[in-house]
This record gives sequence, C-alpha cells and structure tokens, in this order.
Amino acid sequence: MRNFPPNAFLIPPIRKFVYHSIYTLTLLLGLNALLDTGKTSAQLIARETSSNSGCKPYYYGPVNTQLSSFPTIWEPASILHGDSNAESKWDSIKANVPKIPPKGTPNGDFSGLNYSDADDDCWWTYSKCVHPRLEGLPSDVADIPEPHTLAYSFDDGPNCSHNAFYDYLVAQGQKATMFYVGSNVMDWPLEAQRAVTDGHEICVHTWSHRYMSIFFLSRRLSATDQLASISAMQAIKLVTDITPTCWRPPFGDVDDRVRAIANGLGLRTVLWKYDSNDWRVDDGDISRSAVDANYERLLNESANGSFDTVGAILLAHELNNFTMSEAVKYYERLRSTFKNLVPIQVALNNTHPYVEDRPSLGDFHDYTTGGSASMPSDPGTGSDSGESKSPYSPSGVLGPGSEPQSQMPSSSRARRIGGVVVGGIGWWAMAIGILNAVV
Ligand SMILES: [Zn+2]
Repeated sequence: MRNFPPNAFLIPPIRKFVYHSIYTLTLLLGLNALLDTGKTSAQLIARETSSNSGCKPYYYGPVNTQLSSFPTIWEPASILHGDSNAESKWDSIKANVPKIPPKGTPNGDFSGLNYSDADDDCWWTYSKCVHPRLEGLPSDVADIPEPHTLAYSFDDGPNCSHNAFYDYLVAQGQKATMFYVGSNVMDWPLEAQRAVTDGHEICVHTWSHRYMSIFFLSRRLSATDQLASISAMQAIKLVTDITPTCWRPPFGDVDDRVRAIANGLGLRTVLWKYDSNDWRVDDGDISRSAVDANYERLLNESANGSFDTVGAILLAHELNNFTMSEAVKYYERLRSTFKNLVPIQVALNNTHPYVEDRPSLGDFHDYTTGGSASMPSDPGTGSDSGESKSPYSPSGVLGPGSEPQSQMPSSSRARRIGGVVVGGIGWWAMAIGILNAVV
C-alpha cells in the first residue's frame, strides 16, 4: 500500500473564528453597503491587486439571494429530502452507477484499507488508473493528443488575491483552464466572472474540496461532497452563466463509482500526469526548491523530446502567493520549451466546452494561430481586461504575511450573512437519491 498525502484543506478553527469576527465587525460598521454589487465597486474589486483589499468580503446579490439553494459554503454538504427534480435525475443515472464500497476516511486516510491489487475500481489514488473498468465510461483525460503542447491549468480558484496573476496572464495573451471550487465561487463571484471575461476555461473542482472516493462511508458522512461536483456546477452557472462539462477530483481521488456519477451529470474527468506539487509547500510538506525541481523536470522532458508525439497536463494551483508566483516564474520557459500552452478543451479540440453555446474557445488550430476563438460576453461585473494589465510584481500576488485565502471555510457568506442553509433544490437533492440507493 502506498503512502497517501494528508488532507491539506482542513482549516484550523482559529482561522474560522478570525474570519467570522472580521466579517461581523464589517457588518457592524456598515461597510457592507459600500461593497454592494454596483458596477463601479465590482470593477474596483476585480482590479484590486492587493490581497488586503482584494480579499475583503463583499455583498453580491445574486449569490446572497440564492444561498438557501446551496450547501453551506466550505462545509460538507447536508442533504435535504423531498426534491423531486433531483430524485428524477438520480433515477435517470443510478442504473449506471456501480455499487463500489467507500474507501478510507473523509480526511483521506486510506491506511488499513483492504483493496485488491487488481484495482477493480480503477482507483486513481491507488494506481493512477485512467481507463475505467466499467463499460460505457470514457477514459479520463490525463494527457492530450497535441504534440509539443502543455495543457495549462490551475486548481482551487477563484482566489480573491488572483488579480495580479490574472493580469499577468492577460498581458501574455495567455488563457488557461481554471478548476474552480464551488465554495470559492460563492465567496468570490466577481473573481470567478473575471476568469470568464478574460477568456479562461472553467471546469469544476467540487463544492468544498473533499476526497471523493470516501462517499457513503456511513449514512451521516455520505452527506458530503458527492453533491460537491453538482453544487459547484450550479454555483458556476449562477455566477458566470456557463455550465462546465469537465471536472477534476481533488487529490485525483476518483474511482469508477465517482466517474459514473460525474458522467451522468455530463462531467468529463480530467486528471494529470505531471504534478508541480506546489500546494504542498504551504503545508510544509516539501520545499520550494522541490517544486522548482518538478517544473525543471517537465522542462527537461520537453527539451528531450518526451512530447514530440503527445502533449502533457501539468497540475498547478491558484492557491496562494507561492503557487501563483511559481507559475509566473516558469511561464516564459514553459512557453518557449513547449510550442503551445493552451486550455485543456482547446488541446482536445472541443470548441464548445460548456452546456451553453457560448463562449467558444476555438479549436486548437485557431487558438495557436490566433484565429477566431469566440470571446465570451461580459458578465457585467468582471474586470475590463484591456485595462487590467498592471505590471506584475513577483512578490505582490499576496501581501507580506498574507494567508492563502481560497480554502477558508468560514469566510462563507452563508455563515457570515446569516444564510443558514435550510433548503435545497434540483441537483442538490439528487444526493439523497444517491445516498439512499447505495447505503
Ligand atoms: Zn484542488
């Protein structure tokens, strides 16, 4: 049995308390009204490159008024009964979902698990399996067909402090695939809109970034993140008016059961073969130089011809100052060593990556030759990308001493504004069906 990484996203209670206190104070001072959803304030927020200002909580009506339709932000989702639409959806896919037992604990502790070497579940965490055993499921996307091409992507956003990094990408004319966490989208909707405005591709990265294969460990615990993917889809739709068709499981923790559910929801599973491991620095698991070495290894493989016939997907993160700075540090060399850096769906020649017709990213040829990719319409509150080309400061993505903001459960407005989640609709209640069907 291999060693598994610890869960990097358990948030210390003290941080929850601090964020909750800050927001409560903000309300008391009446500052909330100054941060309402008007175009002017939204533009200011979307352009803010200081983490101190950019990461202030703000009120955004479309999210706040819909909070009761979503799980509590950053919490394992609770399940509500009685949603006929969701049950109907489950009824339509449940026959294709295998009864694979859960694995490990919600914190990703798989020690002591008795799992067959035959890897009957195609469990990526165990074997890096990407070709499902279950008939009818497509293979995961773990590399891309276009040679000399890097599928450029970042997980865990939107980060409230990402503007300097996004400004940099705009300045380079570079688009990427952003795997957004639903709770982050609800916390930072304007930042999510900016990604669409800038022309990045959006994929789903679950609701609150939990391990996925642990679902249904018990009836109580099963009320967690199976809904995550689904709820994140709805959050992205609510905020950006697009519905993604791709997702990436946190920690790559996916098996055929999870794949089958995601497939039933119209989500293609996207993994990776090259891992920067940038997220582990924040936990003290590895050194910064180790991340450098991972980037260097990818560059060396590219220089040595490893991608003469096939492209690569690199796992990197929009998680904190270091991960974004590291991406900038290596951007020029990646672009020069690989011929093409493109969003994942572009590399796959999927010109319509969303359920909706627009925006289109263009095909690979269009994208790499500066062709006719359709830019998205302005959601109305994102940044003016043409004016957001502020010079990037390598040390300025987050301010000195700043904490990474994108994984902070209690920053949710669901709690801060008092939105006790008491109801669920549509997709959300589908989990009830999933739960009842397998426990
Ligand atoms: Zn992640």
